[in-house]
Amino acid sequence: MSHPCKLLQGRVVADVILNEIKDELQRVRFQRSPCVAFLRVGNDGASVSYVAQKEKMARSIGIKSILKIFDPAKITENQLMEEIKNFNLDPSVDGILVQAPLPKAIDFVNVCNTIAPNKDVDGFGAENLGRLLQEKSGFTPCTPAGIVELLKFYNISPAGKHVVIVNRSLIVGKPLAALLTKHSLWGNATVTLCHSQSENLPQLTRQADILVLACGKPGHFDAHFVKPEAILIDVGITRVPDGSPQGYSLQGDANFEAVSPIVQAITPVPGGVGPLTVALLMRNTLKAFKLQNNFAA
Ligand code: NAP
Repeated sequence: MSHPCKLLQGRVVADVILNEIKDELQRVRFQRSPCVAFLRVGNDGASVSYVAQKEKMARSIGIKSILKIFDPAKITENQLMEEIKNFNLDPSVDGILVQAPLPKAIDFVNVCNTIAPNKDVDGFGAENLGRLLQEKSGFTPCTPAGIVELLKFYNISPAGKHVVIVNRSLIVGKPLAALLTKHSLWGNATVTLCHSQSENLPQLTRQADILVLACGKPGHFDAHFVKPEAILIDVGITRVPDGSPQGYSLQGDANFEAVSPIVQAITPVPGGVGPLTVALLMRNTLKAFKLQNNFAA
């Protein structure tokens, strides 16, 4: 008989973080609202929806946002960088975010490195990633930071545990590995990073006390990949066509029905890591605002 597995409700944790930010903005009454600029190239459905969620969330807690949309057929890497430089110099803008993915002709890393480090609220620029590796303060990428907040909320210590991450991107895997191996209370994990060239993936993932999936392969990971009683963090979000009025449903990388009877706890999709990513972006925006306006961050 299957045993009940605990759902790690990222949405609940995100709401706690968002309420803290909202409370602070109402209580302190700063001279102006924090402001984040979103730059989006093209109309990819998922990107449109992600930016819209971020705008809506910002509005609901008292953060201002600006959205600039560019035609992928017309904008060049240099032009996008010029747009960023203008925002870097604009004292009314505290944070800058470039929504991925960008067209193939534009290098996402070059673009991120153009954002002023003190406005780099996604934390993908070289300076903030370097500071993360050095265990110095800076802006931490939102999805990895959100995963650590989730572990804290549910009192799941990664210290001494084997965390296996199936992803080596700058957005998820690499910064998460850096965070979880920090010499700190919510670090001190042993981390294995896997990717598409890893041999015998199930043998690696079955060693995980905490398994983080971020492949973008909906339902790919069944019980064969998972150690009984593991904690499973499903970062994957894929739009899978389902004939519904919306046309698709969101699915994670885990085969939820297959793995939930054997794991100790799992994040749902949607409602798991996704809302945390947005909440941590809001927290980083408030931090950028405070740093630039000489408030203690
Ligand atoms: P990405 O850059 O394409 O990274 C995918 C990673 O998965 C790469 O490291 C890739 O390996 C690895 N991979 C792909 N197929 C694999 C396989 N068969 N076996 C082992 N590893 C495999 O994508 P990303 O931007 O990091 O995003 C990954 C997923 O997370 C997507 O579903 C995305 O929507 C989701 N995501 C969710 C959030 C959230 O807030 N919940 C935030 C960010 C991303 P290689 O490096 O060898 O190609």
